Amino acid sequence: MATTPQAVRALKSNGVLEIVWPGGQLCRVPFKSLREECPCAECISEFTGERLLDPASVPADILPTGMAFVGNYALKISWSDGHSTGLYTWENLERLSAPWATSA
Ligand SMILES: [Zn+2]
Repeated sequence: MATTPQAVRALKSNGVLEIVWPGGQLCRVPFKSLREECPCAECISEFTGERLLDPASVPADILPTGMAFVGNYALKISWSDGHSTGLYTWENLERLSAPWATSA
């Protein structure tokens, strides 16, 4: 069972999604990385796990246009490129945010 973040904030002027995990660990994940790692069936093959999304097709200035919690297990992000089918489960977010932990 993955842990639920304490807080999730889109810092649009910094181009990052800030996630605070229980225990206080802070991660700042660039929007572009998050969009490139979109876990939906359009971006990753459900059968082979192969990445179908070309990272080069993601605009450098991509922004979330909307975020919503889904149940108690995931964050749904709508992106400025019109893509809105990505559900980032806490497990996904833990894995994606780990390299972006800050000590601040
Ligand atoms: Zn996707």
